[in-house]
Amino acid sequence: MSGRVKDLTGRRFGRLVVLRRCEEKHRLVRWHCQCDCGVLKVVSATNLTGGTKSCGCLVLDILRKHHGLGGHKLMCSFKAMKGRCSNPADPSYAYYGGRGIRVCDRWLNGNGQQSGFECFLEDMGERPDGMSLDRIDNDGDYAPDNCRWATRGEQSQNTSMVKLSVEAVGEIKARLLSGELGTTLAKEFGVSPRRIYCIRDGKSWSNVPARAAIAATLKPEALTEVKS
Ligand SMILES: [Zn+2]
Repeated sequence: MSGRVKDLTGRRFGRLVVLRRCEEKHRLVRWHCQCDCGVLKVVSATNLTGGTKSCGCLVLDILRKHHGLGGHKLMCSFKAMKGRCSNPADPSYAYYGGRGIRVCDRWLNGNGQQSGFECFLEDMGERPDGMSLDRIDNDGDYAPDNCRWATRGEQSQNTSMVKLSVEAVGEIKARLLSGELGTTLAKEFGVSPRRIYCIRDGKSWSNVPARAAIAATLKPEALTEVKS
């Protein structure tokens, strides 16, 4: 088991430099790290490679810089993001949680050492003036690899990308079930193959069923799959 552990000694993760291996705890591989601020900290390998960038001082620095109202605003955009995705009473829920957009587990529940909000701040850094949180793939989740701070111009460019209708998604699902290739469908509907695969894997639009009218014209085994 330990033979397969990747040696992280000497590697840098943000402000953290890995010093040496630490004894395992709850079968978690952990490393002694030194933060640029001088603090020594034990961090699990999963958290190091999963985005932890400091002993916690990075978050504090961001909050200190945005002290008072600024910090409050960061917390507000964080809470608004969670509400859109998880609270059916939120006015925007239909466009987010309602069509399968989620907040990643790291930002929702934290990493065991830091809260979800702290992880969010570590991953995203501080919000530059005049920018707001934007998802790069409009059908993707709120997660470190799909989020950036963007100006309003950049955002509207993103949202003006081809929008899929409920009907189109129903058709895509039915045709995927019949065995049509994602790349073919992507070309036809003018979207990226990634978006098609998100639909196929239920990562987006999971609330839309395959269109029965189209499914009915397909082979019987596809039909039973649609019904179940
Ligand atoms: Zn530190």
